[in-house]
Amino acid sequence: MSVKQLSFYETTMAFFDQAARHIDHPRGLLDQIKHCNSVYEMSFPVRRPDGEFQIIQAFRVEHSHHRQPTKGGIRYSRMVDADEIRALAALMTFKCALVDVPFGGAKGGVKIEPRKCDAELLEKVTRRYAAELVRKSFIGPGVDVPAPDYGTGPREMAWIYDTYLALNPGQLDAAACVTGKPIEQGGIHGRTEATGNGVFFGIRHALSYREDLKSIGLEPGIEGKTVVVQGLGNVGYHAARSLEEAGARIVAISEFDGALYNPEGLSVEAVQRFQAETGSIVNFPNATNLHKNTDALECECDILIPAALEGQITAENAPRIRAKIIAEAANGPTTAAAETILQQREILILPDLYLNAGGVTVSYFEWLKNLSHVRFGRMSKRFEEASQLAILNSLEKLTGKSLSAEERTLVAHGADEIDLVNSGLEDTMVNSYEAVRETYLSRKEFGTLRIAALVVAINKIANAYLQLGVFP
Ligand code: NAD
Repeated sequence: MSVKQLSFYETTMAFFDQAARHIDHPRGLLDQIKHCNSVYEMSFPVRRPDGEFQIIQAFRVEHSHHRQPTKGGIRYSRMVDADEIRALAALMTFKCALVDVPFGGAKGGVKIEPRKCDAELLEKVTRRYAAELVRKSFIGPGVDVPAPDYGTGPREMAWIYDTYLALNPGQLDAAACVTGKPIEQGGIHGRTEATGNGVFFGIRHALSYREDLKSIGLEPGIEGKTVVVQGLGNVGYHAARSLEEAGARIVAISEFDGALYNPEGLSVEAVQRFQAETGSIVNFPNATNLHKNTDALECECDILIPAALEGQITAENAPRIRAKIIAEAANGPTTAAAETILQQREILILPDLYLNAGGVTVSYFEWLKNLSHVRFGRMSKRFEEASQLAILNSLEKLTGKSLSAEERTLVAHGADEIDLVNSGLEDTMVNSYEAVRETYLSRKEFGTLRIAALVVAINKIANAYLQLGVFP
């Protein structure tokens, strides 16, 4: 008998239903939390460089209005469809609740292949998409705030901000209409690498509990762990770089057009440089090209990091996965059927809604920066340095000992924006893992960290609704 393959949205809802079974709230409230609140599907024309018109299909889904604004990235891919964007928007709601970022979830998508478009066409599409969002009130600092996702980055966010500003002249808080902007356009230091760094903090913290690692045969710590990364884009690159810096060995990297393997370890930066120069990671020196890019997923390693797209680990390849931990940097990389197999095989999954929440966490900091119109650390940096120096001087006087100039600079350092962002990011990833782990350990029936994370998130959203007085 053939088993029907669930779509990404159906998978996300199946995970929700599994978690909801353990939650004691009225069914109506759970249904309200589950379903998308607003779905906007649009199509608009743009003129291509060859003079022909192309009709672009695009989406913005606001999954939950229990908190506003809603928040979520914009994806550019030829695979974009309503199902995918609804699933991603729902994940955003649960993610924000889990890490205490006070937004509802949303997601946007434009059905184009950015690799095949020149910058001029991408700018036209992006500006028109932003104008459509303005037209239907699907964007604004207090309404819905997009950010980068697969296929987009700071450049697209700058175009969106500029378009929004042009259509809302003089709006004081306009910069907070979108996050992930370049620094010069009101962006925040550390946003580009935030999701990847968050993935690193999450893995490092999960690897700190010896008792949790016994059943999968791993010792605590990052040092010496072998890692496979699927997708060397924004998230995959920064996660892999941080792990490499902490002493892990990146043994395989896969990209859309090929995969590399070297058991001695690949230099992430060198592979990325080679890709930028040649247009592909294939034939990188001192590495073996794998037959298919999906072969990388099946390489033996301690940690497998899917950092590309959803639906990569399925019932078909799950029996052949030889990782001890799957660290879901991408959204929805594991299907529900695969998760059951992996659970039986005692492979630990660090779920997407927790592990890649670093991006939205730092986007939240950027939004706060834009609303307060001041760079983090601007008011306090010098004051902190002066106070710390005064304490140092007193201690030196009292003890008769003195520190070297280098040590003095290290101790008497006022926090810059990047220090504060990274501190807030690390704190969020550590505290959220604690909450998920505690819930997971509290009831054997939760079965996976994903279900425990969803239980934590759904309970927080339910409480928000109850406080709003929407449900008695
Ligand atoms: P990106 O576009 O910067 O990078 C994705 C990379 O994956 C690209 O280099 C692409 O070539 C590669 N890729 C595509 N198909 C592949 C395949 N079949 N095998 C191997 N590699 C493939 O995108 P990103 O922003 O890094 O996003 C990656 C994932 O992380 C997505 O699921 C996204 O939703 C999720 N995510 C991103 C952010 C963010 O801040 N950018 C935040 C949270 C979650």
